Amino acid sequence: MTAPVPADVLSRLKAVLGEGGWSQDPARLAPKLLEWRDRWTGETPLLVLPKTTDEVAAVIAICCESGTPITTQGGNTGLVGGQIPQGEVLLSTDRMRAIRALDTSDDVLVAEAGVTLSAIHEAAAAVRRRFPLGLASEGSATVGGVVSTNAGGTQVLRYGMTRNLVLGLEAVLPNGEVWNGLKRLRKDNTGYDLKQLLIGAEGTLGVVTAAALKLHPVMASRAVAMIAVADPEAAIQLLGRAKDETGGAVEAFELMGRLGVEFALRNIPGTRDPLAQPHPWYVLAEFSTAEPGSAEAAMARVLAAGLQDGLVHDAAVAQTEAQAKALWAIRENQSPAQKPEGATWKHDVAVPVSQVPAFLRQATAAVQAFTPGARVAAFGHVGDGNIHYDVLRPDGGSDAEHAALRDEGSRIVHDIVAALGGSISAEHGLGSMKTEEAKRYKSPVEVEALQAIRRALDPKRIMNPRVLF
Ligand SMILES: Cc1cc2nc3c(=O)[nH]c(=O)nc-3n(C[C@H](O)[C@H](O)[C@H](O)COP(=O)(O)OP(=O)(O)OC[C@H]3O[C@@H](n4cnc5c(N)ncnc54)[C@H](O)[C@@H]3O)c2cc1C
Repeated sequence: MTAPVPADVLSRLKAVLGEGGWSQDPARLAPKLLEWRDRWTGETPLLVLPKTTDEVAAVIAICCESGTPITTQGGNTGLVGGQIPQGEVLLSTDRMRAIRALDTSDDVLVAEAGVTLSAIHEAAAAVRRRFPLGLASEGSATVGGVVSTNAGGTQVLRYGMTRNLVLGLEAVLPNGEVWNGLKRLRKDNTGYDLKQLLIGAEGTLGVVTAAALKLHPVMASRAVAMIAVADPEAAIQLLGRAKDETGGAVEAFELMGRLGVEFALRNIPGTRDPLAQPHPWYVLAEFSTAEPGSAEAAMARVLAAGLQDGLVHDAAVAQTEAQAKALWAIRENQSPAQKPEGATWKHDVAVPVSQVPAFLRQATAAVQAFTPGARVAAFGHVGDGNIHYDVLRPDGGSDAEHAALRDEGSRIVHDIVAALGGSISAEHGLGSMKTEEAKRYKSPVEVEALQAIRRALDPKRIMNPRVLF
């Protein structure tokens, strides 16, 4: 727990923000101090709610001068605890919700940090553009949050992570100075890229106050299918075919094991099995193209060839938008559907795409040897080699016993990932949860270089002091 913040510092922070700009009301604070899976409960002496970049700068300047630790929070959907304060002042971007500019010549949308991802999608759609970052948390996740976690999601295969979707940033640095880097350039090769340093920094190098986001054209043709495959090898072969067949128009290619699908059918109202028989593995595939009808035609060709040579066992192709949504609901609810099933060790790992089947085989054998009866619900962005590898307690087993084995069990999974040349955090970041674990797998040379960058920008380590190196 961070040391108590002196009363005079709290008074100064309140004074620069004025009425409505701060809160100590327990009812107002409560939802911001609880992580959505109830994994972390936080504490803060003060919630600050700046409305403008200048107000953020005033807050950070006071924190810098007094050495007061501060944690930034957007939508509180982060999965690694980085947004939950443990005694620090809590800065929320809730009141920074303006879309400052929307320009279809530059294909850019400039939004403040607290705008939700859903609001970005709506604003882009209104001018026949789209921002291709899709997360199941998009109704709450904010621009500042997705930038600071370098969020991924289902469309990375085609458009890349947030890193590839940001043209410029505005941020308040840990010394309280405002950096206006809200450029709209596609090319700017002028040395170190401060914007890229802030993307994925998890709030440790400053507060992101606004971002210039890259927009893409709307696609006229879209095909969505839930495809039953024999195993992850078949899924990867099918992905190769789909890329060839569509000329790279595969928008999403998501793997799901049967157990996770069963959890969704059992625990999420309104979901139903789109296929007549259960299958061990499924892919949810989406293609999209500019030419009307061509995505649907490509999907039909990929499925017909796959059925012929045994890669595909069965498939349900959405005929309407409602059916597409219903198929996506099964995928998007993979994580929420686990909640009623008891304690889980969650992993967000990446390995080279070719190594996904080996990872799944090795990890499952190892965790089941360690905890007989453990239930593995693996799903994720197989086209990126990113698997959410979740290990649930044995059916009827004890939550407390399973939770007590989490660190040891996760170490087994992470060691296999590292041996296959992978990463222990593919898209969720490190937060307070995985920082120590990550140090095990990064070289001392790298950790030292990263610490030097942080010391240079934040010598007092006031910004999110519990996270990263
Ligand atoms: C159901 C569900 C599905 C999800 N699916 C995905 C997925 O597919 N891919 C994926 O990548 N993530 C996913 N996530 C994780 C999460 O939604 C993302 O990490 C998201 O980017 C967090 O945004 P947020 O606004 O909620 O940030 P928060 O949770 O509030 O904060 C996350 C981190 O960013 C920092 N931060 C927030 N705002 C700022 C700011 N303005 N300036 C500086 N630092 C800031 C915080 O300090 C913290 O370290 C999912 C989460 C849920 C609950």
